[in-house]
Amino acid sequence: MPERHRDTAGVHAGKLVVPLNAASSPPLYQASSYEFEDLADVEQIYGGRKAGAVYGRFGGPNARHFESAIAELEGAEAAVGAASGMAAIDAALSRLARPGDAIVATREIYGGSYVLLEKDYREAGIRIVYVDQQDLAAVRDALARERPKVLYVEALTNPLVHVADLRALADAAHDAGASLVVDATFATPMLVRPLALGADLVVHSVGKYIGGHGDVGAGVLAGRAELVEPARAYLVRKGATLPHFEAWLALRGVRTLALRMARHSANAAHVAAALAREPAVAVVHHPSLPAHPQHALAAASYPDGTGGIVSFDLRGGRDAVERFLPALESIAIVHSLGEVATTIAYPAVSSHRPLPAEERRALGVGDGTLRLSVGIERAEDIVADLTRALAGLGERVEA
Ligand code: PLP
Repeated sequence: MPERHRDTAGVHAGKLVVPLNAASSPPLYQASSYEFEDLADVEQIYGGRKAGAVYGRFGGPNARHFESAIAELEGAEAAVGAASGMAAIDAALSRLARPGDAIVATREIYGGSYVLLEKDYREAGIRIVYVDQQDLAAVRDALARERPKVLYVEALTNPLVHVADLRALADAAHDAGASLVVDATFATPMLVRPLALGADLVVHSVGKYIGGHGDVGAGVLAGRAELVEPARAYLVRKGATLPHFEAWLALRGVRTLALRMARHSANAAHVAAALAREPAVAVVHHPSLPAHPQHALAAASYPDGTGGIVSFDLRGGRDAVERFLPALESIAIVHSLGEVATTIAYPAVSSHRPLPAEERRALGVGDGTLRLSVGIERAEDIVADLTRALAGLGERVEA
């Protein structure tokens, strides 16, 4: 190489030539632009005939790594990462339903998705109808009446962990000419694979279990390429693709997802059984409990467990909640979920805040309902923290 001025060397020196010998774990490609060998290369990569990166917003190598992992885990032809779970949900739903069309959605929908449907979609002229996803006759009625483009459900609902019968819902949607889109954030592909049960698209908030450490904001959707590729193009247009570092963290989360989901599920079953024995607790919601309304369905369709979310109602309502939460020692109030540490949330003021109190209570989310995201600590330590805080509450309730 000819000698060059240090000003020039500063700009060009130390260039990474890829491939070196392969790294054993994917490196972070923190680059927003990429070089092309010649114009034929530009033509081929832009035209999608050759694999290659174009520009940061179009998605980089780390996003591709993560997407291919999710596609394989979901048994999907294609997957696309997004800047958040909401971006993935919007990309999925908005490509399927246009102004004048209808969406039939679960009434147990995540609060952010509810606001998206109510504020943006309804205002854009899309009809939105809510149904009880557990009531298949009601679902079929709504589908026959509305003839929607999409049936949108959640695999495990928030916060009561109802279990969707995905095969039956897929059949009902397809009989009515609709696509089934499933938010499987609480389950992850380690516990359920909605596409194998007939769903058309599956979406995740990746910052929950898939990321797993409370340090990623990301989303992903997976399904047939004919549905995923228009969603990818939309995310590129909107500038809502998955950034490199988040993609890298998300893939690192995938590496331990199977282990974590097994531990979350086993711990949650242990914690749920312990809470069900507590006098200050009126009801506990987790599909592992025989009293759970979809216990049999969960046992048949979730052989590896039903995840780490356990909700329970304190008999003393909001007053008890206000005394219980500060008495917890290691369990922090966190309004996200799916992290390695056990955390707790109060849905009435967080996820279900957009709903009028009457509607929220009608969904079974009362003033005493708390949602635990059971972590991967030793189950006995989680139970000890909860029972200690509940014991204090019991004394006050009886006094
Ligand atoms: N779906 C479910 C079930 C969620 O719990 C959340 C977030 O809490 C979302 C979607 C939205 O994901 P994000 O916050 O990554 O946009």
